[in-house]
Amino acid sequence: MRAEIIFTGTELLLGHTLNTNAPYLQQVLASLGIDLYYQVTAGDNRERLARAITQARERANLIIIGGGLGPTEDDVSREALADSLGISLQMSEEALQVVRRFFDERGLSMSENNLKQALVPEGGIVLDNPIGTAPGVILEHEGKTYLLLPGPPSEFRLMVDRQVTPYLLQKLGAQRQVIRSRVVKLCGIGESTVDQQLGELLHSANPTVAPTAKYAEVHLRITAKADSPEEARRINAAMEEKIRRRLGKYIFGADEETLAGAAGRVFLERGLTLATVETFTGGLLAHRLTGAPGAGSFFKFGYVLGENRRNWPVAPSAGSGKETAEQLAAWGRSAAGADVCVAITKQAEDGKQEKSLPGATVYLATRLDERAGGRQSRSGEFYIWGGPLDVQERAVQVALALLWRMKDAK
Ligand code: AMP
Ligand code: MG
Repeated sequence: MRAEIIFTGTELLLGHTLNTNAPYLQQVLASLGIDLYYQVTAGDNRERLARAITQARERANLIIIGGGLGPTEDDVSREALADSLGISLQMSEEALQVVRRFFDERGLSMSENNLKQALVPEGGIVLDNPIGTAPGVILEHEGKTYLLLPGPPSEFRLMVDRQVTPYLLQKLGAQRQVIRSRVVKLCGIGESTVDQQLGELLHSANPTVAPTAKYAEVHLRITAKADSPEEARRINAAMEEKIRRRLGKYIFGADEETLAGAAGRVFLERGLTLATVETFTGGLLAHRLTGAPGAGSFFKFGYVLGENRRNWPVAPSAGSGKETAEQLAAWGRSAAGADVCVAITKQAEDGKQEKSLPGATVYLATRLDERAGGRQSRSGEFYIWGGPLDVQERAVQVALALLWRMKDAK
């Protein structure tokens, strides 16, 4: 079965509402092994929506339309579906009951335009909506299945779970498959190098392997389609094994695991404690680390320094920012009595440096005591592009990468 989803709502196109129904439905479709090749978002326009439905029919046999079932003029999904198929809308007694019940239960009177919500394309099956006014619709027409689902996320989800999933499961019968993904996460290697190293693996059809880059991380999504979840897992595991053989030393985790979690594991395994000193990141690094599994055992102190350097525990070095970071790391290590301290700071704003693109020069330093391998203390200077929040986020990623790489320092 191949699906196409059409989300409706001008607010989605204007960027006023985040489409949260999309990931929900996509995951359900994947769990049912239904392929999704296209997803379209259309504004509240009857003609364009009808055209999107007609186009979807050429590419898929399950066409799901989300939103546009409200009582107002701009809710046109029912009409657009009927237009696209050249069929009529009929008042459905069953749908009317769903709409009425909503008002009756709340002691409200129903307005005239809610009647529109009880219109159903001829031949359509009405889907109950116990928490809203808009009934959903399933329509089987000329070998294709059409679904009309309400836009409000809670109604959308409930209808997908309670009515759409069972319907699709029954329809799929014995042909049911599953699509399952495993995400392998790498650090300390660029996306293009990953690409080169994986070569032909990236052309595999089942499972597929797709890289995506995040700051300081590369993710490889391995996706299998199979007859059972176990079979899909086995296919994915075999591919993961091949990837590990080529790139194992860069892999820090998989699926929900985070770089902070991986960095924390290094400290747990080596039995070391950690402190952080941060300036412009305002505790973001400490926040990430304290969320890591086992943080209670390795994370000792997180110091956050304000912008005013006169208040800092060490007089900022007259030399480079890198030296200042080193001094802060040394101070933090001894103040916290930790085995390791990492410090993040950035170049003081002198008001002169007007760059055409936003960014900042960031300094990082780690200080290790003798037991942890004192000579492995490191410091570095990075120019990070982006707005203030990007710079914070990325600097923290660099720090976490530095801590995770301590796994190799002996
Ligand atoms: P509608 O059924 O199109 O009238 O939508 C009702 C409400 O649900 C509106 O507040 C929409 O902004 C919201 N909504 C519709 N579609 C989505 C979606 N895909 N994700 C999140 N909210 C949505
Ligand atoms: Mg809408």
